[in-house]
Amino acid sequence: MTRIASHRGGTLEFGDSTPAGFSATAAMALEEVEFDVHPTADGAIIVHHDPTLDRTTDRSGIIAEMTSTDVRAATIDYSGGSHPLTLEELCALFENSPVAFRCEFKPGAAGHGYRDFVPRVIETLAANGRLETTVFSSFLLETLIALQQSSDQPFLWLVSPPVLHQLGVKAMISVARQYNVPEIGLNIDTATPEIRDALVSEGIAFGCWAAHSAQQIEKALALGAKVFTTDRPSLAIAVREAWRLRNQEISA
Ligand code: MG
Repeated sequence: MTRIASHRGGTLEFGDSTPAGFSATAAMALEEVEFDVHPTADGAIIVHHDPTLDRTTDRSGIIAEMTSTDVRAATIDYSGGSHPLTLEELCALFENSPVAFRCEFKPGAAGHGYRDFVPRVIETLAANGRLETTVFSSFLLETLIALQQSSDQPFLWLVSPPVLHQLGVKAMISVARQYNVPEIGLNIDTATPEIRDALVSEGIAFGCWAAHSAQQIEKALALGAKVFTTDRPSLAIAVREAWRLRNQEISA
């Protein structure tokens, strides 16, 4: 069965990367929670989507240039007055949850991966008993190299619509081979049966991201994606269940 990943803790249902969204996700009948990580200037690891606080909190500033105290003083929009979590706090929220981690390495404010950050995240996950149930993702090829040097955990390459368009399927597969990429995640709107077949025939697993509407979720299910991320995890669970029952009836 196609796996569901609650994107940033279910942004459209609970706000963007909010403690409430992550807590709710920990108790849901789905397989993964997706989140993004950024370093602070004083060595903390913050769970937040953007490299800055500007878009989704009441404060502004570049996380990597701030202290963790200052970052955690920000109130996240639509969060019921909550503040950004550290990676350790996220691990604690999922302590008794079977939901696996899908940890994304985002670029910093200047568009590059953070220097020497990957090993620190891996160490923190290991120290909190979470590394073995984590899959990593990134749009950044340099980060995929760092991941392979630091851990044996599975990882996937997120391919954006412009990169897919510019490379084309053949070159995308050749880059994936060059970087030992075992899995590719495509935006659901750019995913097709032809691309899926091309990836699978090369032994590369195929997943999707940004399946937020019922239609997009059904598309991911129909494509037989390994996994998809969604900002509407409750909707995704309902759509997948209806899909499963429908297919059961057809095969009965
Ligand atoms: Mg992400």
